[in-house]
Amino acid sequence: MKTIYLDHAATTPVHPEAEAAMLPYFRENYANPSAAYKTASEVREKTEQARAFLAKTLHAKPAEIYFTSGGTESDNWAIKGAARLLKAKGRHIITSAIEHHAVLNSCADLEREGFQVTYLGVSEQGEIRLSELEKAIRPDTILISVMYANNEVGTIQPVAGIGAIASQNGIIFHTDAVQAYGQLPIDVNKSHIDLLSASGHKLNGPKGTGFLYVNEKIPLPSLLYGGGQERGKRAGTENVPGIIGFGKAAEIACKTRAERERHIAKMRDHLIARLLSEIPYTRLNGSRKNRLPGNCNVSFQFVRGAELLSKLNEENICASVGAACTCGASAPSHVLLAMGLPENIARGTLRLTIGYENTFEEIDYTADCIRNNVAALREKSEEYQHFYIR
Ligand code: PLP
Repeated sequence: MKTIYLDHAATTPVHPEAEAAMLPYFRENYANPSAAYKTASEVREKTEQARAFLAKTLHAKPAEIYFTSGGTESDNWAIKGAARLLKAKGRHIITSAIEHHAVLNSCADLEREGFQVTYLGVSEQGEIRLSELEKAIRPDTILISVMYANNEVGTIQPVAGIGAIASQNGIIFHTDAVQAYGQLPIDVNKSHIDLLSASGHKLNGPKGTGFLYVNEKIPLPSLLYGGGQERGKRAGTENVPGIIGFGKAAEIACKTRAERERHIAKMRDHLIARLLSEIPYTRLNGSRKNRLPGNCNVSFQFVRGAELLSKLNEENICASVGAACTCGASAPSHVLLAMGLPENIARGTLRLTIGYENTFEEIDYTADCIRNNVAALREKSEEYQHFYIR
């Protein structure tokens, strides 16, 4: 039986063209890009082409792109680097309560070093309020870090508004765009973004690839010391095939974005409509309007998300209950709790994230399976029986 993969927020399959672009750089031309011979300069040229393309997608300059091992590294570097850069000016950081743990735990690390962090709350839809952001700013605020789009509920933040406030107050603005990059058009200038994290494996590129965009005006301290790679900021021999594959995947994502967005959003809306209309006591989490095209996050009352997930797993459907890296954690999602969901409802949540290779048949099969399994699990739920009988 074919696997139905509906966990694209966790990771995505490498696009065949991205794979093909990478292959020659494993065994045919494996030169170190820092070397002095002809084959090395070809490798160097290829990685620089990828850098230039990635920069263009953001309306940035190639020299503002630093390759990293992915979103986690970029987030850590951006937040701790900005804090180190500006600690003499101030030690206050503003972020949101619904960030990925790469951001939250970087902030927690800085709190242990004496920094103070304000965690902005969010609306029921998962959006921060600009008025609250303005109120949270203090004379010693040095950094605002708010994600572009949320990985669990897909809500897109008012990024241009956040950037405008940061810029008016002379505060560095970092955004974790790991889920948004490749899916949404991004302009770092228009949105006043100073630092931006992206990851290759979320847009059909290889795992272990990513970049940090650093506005050229910000002298962010180096992350790794060693050779002079990445203009001395992030030393270590480059992941050449990865960088080339990431560049290719981004190229395809940009070229096909509008059409993919339409197709994926249609499948998402169909899935949401079926789940909400066919399964009672079900709610959609996140914004209806400002939502990533592939995200469907729903809570089924009287059901445990983990149990439903394991039933779907038996039917070869891959989904998740929240962020991939917190799967297995017994605590309900910090994102849903911040959005005001009661704990028992938050525990009944399923995240289905759709990609370009999914089909309407798969979506319908999944909706059928969810409906049947939710009904079966509720039959066994004492809480539901009690509720139902009353
Ligand atoms: N930030 C967000 C919003 C994410 O969704 C993820 C991955 O799930 C990360 C950061 C971490 O990215 P990576 O897996 O490339 O380290």
